[in-house]
Amino acid sequence: MNTIILICLAFSFNTLFATPVLDTLVRREGSVRTIIKKNEMIHLLGNDSFDGKYFKIVLKKSNEAISFHDPDKNLVLKAASVYYHLNKSREFWMKDMQFAKIQEMPKITVRLELTNQFDEFGHFANDNRAPQFNNALSIPSGQTPDWVPEDRRDSWNNEIWFRPVKKILTKDLGNLGPNPMTVALQALQNPLIDYIQNQFNVRLMEEFFYPSYVNRPLHEDLIRYAGTYALMKLILHGSKYADRLFLDKYYYLDAAFVPEIAYHEFAHIVLSDRLEMSHSTPVNEGMADYFAAVQSRTRKIYARVKGHSNSRYKDRDEKKKYTHWDEATRLATSDFTLSVLWDVREVLGENYGDKVVFHARHFLETKSSTISEGLLRAILYACEEKCEFPRRDKLILYETFSKKGF
Ligand SMILES: [Zn+2]
Repeated sequence: MNTIILICLAFSFNTLFATPVLDTLVRREGSVRTIIKKNEMIHLLGNDSFDGKYFKIVLKKSNEAISFHDPDKNLVLKAASVYYHLNKSREFWMKDMQFAKIQEMPKITVRLELTNQFDEFGHFANDNRAPQFNNALSIPSGQTPDWVPEDRRDSWNNEIWFRPVKKILTKDLGNLGPNPMTVALQALQNPLIDYIQNQFNVRLMEEFFYPSYVNRPLHEDLIRYAGTYALMKLILHGSKYADRLFLDKYYYLDAAFVPEIAYHEFAHIVLSDRLEMSHSTPVNEGMADYFAAVQSRTRKIYARVKGHSNSRYKDRDEKKKYTHWDEATRLATSDFTLSVLWDVREVLGENYGDKVVFHARHFLETKSSTISEGLLRAILYACEEKCEFPRRDKLILYETFSKKGF
């Protein structure tokens, strides 16, 4: 009799405390290659669905957690991967970044396969309003206003939404951003234009002050300089049509299968105590990219995931120099801001770099901060408070920024 009770007790304790282990999609340590690996589903409230202490993974608009036994095996793998990477990210913020406030953060609902747009007054916009695919976003907490009929009232905490994947013909996407050849030429173009303009200015000065020294009429030189400039522009223009050489026929991004996207979205929520999640800007996207890059520990983030995404990676060591185009909202997803912040980490070291970049959010605003004004100033202010030797380190930062073209 006693043994039976003991066995029963042991069994129930076992089911209470054993952490389920499931297949997840992860990147191989230090590489962009992805593999399927068994991982523990920590902090779960039960043992048969993705409902945890900190994250609940649901399908579309549902409020029920996805079951481990859902017949859709791909959905279970997806939910397990997202659940694993988000909990991992939470540990990073708690342990590595020592961000204690994470303890007070309300539980986050994570929605997979949701196509609805976000509506700040209604949670989900109407089903037929332009469905969304191939991306992910974090949404701020909110509630429907009082005038909304009772049966449609809703309130929600911070959520992360992953859109379903959809293969889109690349040619239908329009401008996907410059291809690698254009980027290389653009990097070359700026110094060259500077050179041409300088040469031309010098020539103008000569014409003005020392006309007798000049042995060629001004207009000839003008044509020469303008010619080089036009040629450069033409090559640059032509290279844009070479896109087909660099891109696949189809574009697709199953965001829930890209580990760094989970890190990126969670970073938005952590940073949202200062950086509102109202819209994307080069500054708030760059900040979220930075912490995604810190957690991924590879030079390239968001790299291809075989069978799930052929989206272009972002390179934390991107060498491009600053131009005012980098401030444009439509370039919010470029890797320029990430590369500026990564340089900060390189010169201050991991520890101080991460502290300074994180602290910089106190001096930033999603609505108004630009890279050249807001972000650089915020980094310097943050260094004043968090750097090991602020005076020395600020000088180092000035130098780093000027190398980046500021
Ligand atoms: Zn983002």
